[in-house]
Amino acid sequence: MESLTSRVAYLAGFVDGLELDKTTKEGKAIEQIIEVLKDMALEIEGISENQMDIEDYLGEIDEDLAYVEDDLYDIDDIDYDDDNMDDFIEMKCGNCGDVIYVDAGIVEEGEDMICPRCHEPLEFGDSEIEEE
Ligand SMILES: [Zn+2]
Repeated sequence: MESLTSRVAYLAGFVDGLELDKTTKEGKAIEQIIEVLKDMALEIEGISENQMDIEDYLGEIDEDLAYVEDDLYDIDDIDYDDDNMDDFIEMKCGNCGDVIYVDAGIVEEGEDMICPRCHEPLEFGDSEIEEE
């Protein structure tokens, strides 16, 4: 398809060939219409070029993001399997039965804990501690 600017240029040449009397209202109006069309065609072409640049850029960001996501999930898996869970003790709240993962350090220090679900104090002695 021919570009908008070349089509408008062709139209402008065609109108020129009509040798319209530009002193009449109609002649002035048509002259103005051609000028507006030229400006619009240039602006639309500029916007199209910008949009193509943005699409290219978005594609690059999307690719980069895929790499970041891959890395992130890898790190997550490693942390979950090997490191973090070793430091937590699984406990069941004596009141609501919710299973809570408590930091092993806090358990050793004997600090008072509150169940995040029912807000009743957790008593380590009464709680069921399941360790695999
Ligand atoms: Zn509870």
